Amino acid sequence: MAKSPKTTKYVYLFGNKKTDGDGSMKPLLGGKGANLAEMTRIGLPVPPGFTITTEVCTYYYDNKRTYPKELELQAKNGIAFLENTLGKKFGDMEKPLLVSVRSGARDSMPGMMDTILNLGLNDQTVQALARYSKNDRFAWDCYRRFIQMYGDVVMGVQKRPGEDHEPFEVVIEGLKHERHEENIEDTRMSVEDLRELVARFKSLIKERTGKEFPQDPWKQLWGAVGAVFGSWMNDRAMVYRRKYNIPSEWGTAVNVQAMVYGNTGDNSGSGVAFTRDPATGEKVFYGEFLINAQGEDVVAGVRTPEPVAQLKQQMPKAYAELEVIRKTLESHFKDVQDFEFTIEDGVVFMLQTRNGKRTGLAAVRFAFEMEKEKLIDWKTAIRRVPADQLDQVLAPVFDRKAMAAANCIAKGLPAGPGAASGKMYFNADRAVMAAQKGEKVLLVRNETSPEDLRGMIAAEGILTAKGGVSSHAALVARQMGKVCVCGASALQIDYSAKTLRVAGTTYNEGDYLSINGTAGDVYPGELKTAASEIVQVLVERSLHAKESQTFQMFKKLMDWCSKVTRLQVRTNADTPEQTANAVAFGASGIGLTRTEHMFFEGDRIDAMREMILADKIEDRKAALAKLLPYQKEDFVGIFKELKGLPATIRFLDPPLHEFLPHDHAAQNLLAEKLGVSVDKVSQRVKDLHEFNPMLGFRGCRLGLVYPEISEMQARAVFEAAAEVQKQGIKVKPEIMIPLVGFKRELDLQVEVVHRVAKEVMAEKKVKLSYLVGTMIEVPRGALTADEIAQTAQFFSFGTNDLTQTALGMSRDDSGSFLGPYSELEIIKKNPFASIDQTGVGQLMKIAVEKGRSTRPDIKLGICGEHGGDPDSVKFCHRIGLSYVSCSPFRVPVARLAAAQAALEEEVAKKKKK
Ligand code: PEP
Ligand code: MG
Repeated sequence: MAKSPKTTKYVYLFGNKKTDGDGSMKPLLGGKGANLAEMTRIGLPVPPGFTITTEVCTYYYDNKRTYPKELELQAKNGIAFLENTLGKKFGDMEKPLLVSVRSGARDSMPGMMDTILNLGLNDQTVQALARYSKNDRFAWDCYRRFIQMYGDVVMGVQKRPGEDHEPFEVVIEGLKHERHEENIEDTRMSVEDLRELVARFKSLIKERTGKEFPQDPWKQLWGAVGAVFGSWMNDRAMVYRRKYNIPSEWGTAVNVQAMVYGNTGDNSGSGVAFTRDPATGEKVFYGEFLINAQGEDVVAGVRTPEPVAQLKQQMPKAYAELEVIRKTLESHFKDVQDFEFTIEDGVVFMLQTRNGKRTGLAAVRFAFEMEKEKLIDWKTAIRRVPADQLDQVLAPVFDRKAMAAANCIAKGLPAGPGAASGKMYFNADRAVMAAQKGEKVLLVRNETSPEDLRGMIAAEGILTAKGGVSSHAALVARQMGKVCVCGASALQIDYSAKTLRVAGTTYNEGDYLSINGTAGDVYPGELKTAASEIVQVLVERSLHAKESQTFQMFKKLMDWCSKVTRLQVRTNADTPEQTANAVAFGASGIGLTRTEHMFFEGDRIDAMREMILADKIEDRKAALAKLLPYQKEDFVGIFKELKGLPATIRFLDPPLHEFLPHDHAAQNLLAEKLGVSVDKVSQRVKDLHEFNPMLGFRGCRLGLVYPEISEMQARAVFEAAAEVQKQGIKVKPEIMIPLVGFKRELDLQVEVVHRVAKEVMAEKKVKLSYLVGTMIEVPRGALTADEIAQTAQFFSFGTNDLTQTALGMSRDDSGSFLGPYSELEIIKKNPFASIDQTGVGQLMKIAVEKGRSTRPDIKLGICGEHGGDPDSVKFCHRIGLSYVSCSPFRVPVARLAAAQAALEEEVAKKKKK
């Protein structure tokens, strides 16, 4: 194919085993165009065609929706190429060439842009097609389809506001009822019916647009090309691009391809298939087809397609050919393909192929089995599983049929993946009581606070109307591996009436509700669920590893990850149980124990409240003495589970008023328990009120003003360490001081820690080794990291607070504007879920650099919620942290992301060389 060196090439041909482009040219030819060329190149049966490049799309939008002048001639040459190849002519009265015109962006955007089939038909060529094919019905079916698609996509005859049905479908249904008195299948419409439809469609177009349906094929072609480029900026394409981070500068290509026909009769058909099952990952030929239909029918759902396996009986030859194609595609593209085919009079044609979208489970199985089949190596297998999809494999799931039949009543943020059903309770205590009675419970709240913790533990899942992905509910849910949907703003909860109003229906406490935390969907009633097999093997221990294929695949993947990973993965865990779960998932220690979470269980809260209410240091010390054994007991449990792995334990962090009762009844109860007056309690609660508690009396400020708190915590850690070490189990505590911005803050707290350590070692006659470090979670801490590192033996980035303080956005209140911020493209991703690499990331880099300048071997980690987000994990790898820490059920995701980060670095290094 001749190339002119002078003019820009805007049109790339494919056909007859020769092509201008190939599969590597996706940026220029779009995914569809590049793969059509590639399939042609490897000898698959692709109808000839040409691709108009994405550069034309860019030009079109940069130049007031016009085309570069060279395009017209190049497109003419393209059509001439098709005419010569096929011996047909565009607009011909004997053998008319018909084409399809379809979009094709660099990344596939299924269903987002427009397609037109059978272009080139008009009142004359339809007659020619009928004569030439000796098939009237087929010719008129093509024509009515073309007018329908063209009228919709190019001429804009679509549903008007207030209309429920597509206008062309209304015409079809009207005619069917008039002539057949029922809604017969399209294939049963007669030639006469189809002729009549053509006439009615044309009148509809005239009536709605005031324009005649164009008869000139060239006019049709340019109209269609313009519509495809125009659809790049339609609403749904823009929304899709935003969701999947596809830059609008990429543009779409346009593919013009000779038509092949699946609607010539019962020896023809169209289908969509996957080389393996994209839902389960099973190696079976998966897909569906329709006899006597064009491609759009399969996706449009006008008729119910049949499983592709049925073709074996109905068209054995075509089926055998498709089986060969299926193998060729996989051995060439080395990945599972999602492809479209048409069978015309028994002959198979390929219209598209792309890497198939898949569930997390399928991704794991594909990777595992393809490595076994030697289609890919183990490093490629690691790269093939999108890290954020791995949690789907770990999460409990809804029965697929049950979900398909259910009606989604609200949407929120998918905060804790998985599926949960239960009776809804609007209050933690009632949830706990119901759970104790053996009910399956969902805790439904406007938002949660630490006071709700027991209710959250008791619940199968947590649903909130407010709050974002780093809200309390989300954070705790992830840590516990609970299913959680948060910020489902359509929910109207009336705590006093104990009702939930949503989508026009009122539900009562105790009614069943189901939530899908992987998708963020809420359903009424109870949908069936089951724990993932991996959890059954590792956590519940109710299933033997050998009995679970899913577990074996998962394990293999994790073993591969361990071979390449540099970044360690620790966990955020507050209890021995969470620790055990995380270790089972492969955590290499604890990166954050939030000690305050331990104070909410059982009677502990009373002692905690007594401590807060104390006026005098002696009273406070007495209350702290009651807390000490609890803390110690927890640490003993944690150290035992860790069996020598390190544990970063953070001292008390949240504002004290979070622990106090806020309503009168609860204040009364507390006053009674403590033997003080209610007035005293309510006065203390008022005293502790802060306008901005996140920036108030919290973090190390607590331990600095009340050093006895830190003393107690240090004692609990060291006494526990001594006890466990005496049992012959290694212990590596790392004490972490929160919210440090000044070196002196840390110095003062470290003094306390060292003093208590010495005391305990002397008392217990043991030698303990431990580290003391700090969180970097306020900008001043990052900017003065060189000073702070003189004292700190390690840094752990608290990116929840660092994001909050660097962006000046409250982590609890940003839900109200982050949505619009994303729509306005101010932010690409929620900065509380994925590190704002350019802003917050810069503070982290500064801290890494400055910390290392003072203490070259300083241990660096992250323990904010970002530690379980794949993009953030990769960022942490790139800036040279030693570990990330995330909730126990997120550990496998982080391990996978860490391995992928190491592989990406390997590839980048090779490229450099
Ligand atoms: C953080 O701020 O990132 C952090 C881990 O601490 P917390 O979420 O407890 O404030
Ligand atoms: Mg913090």
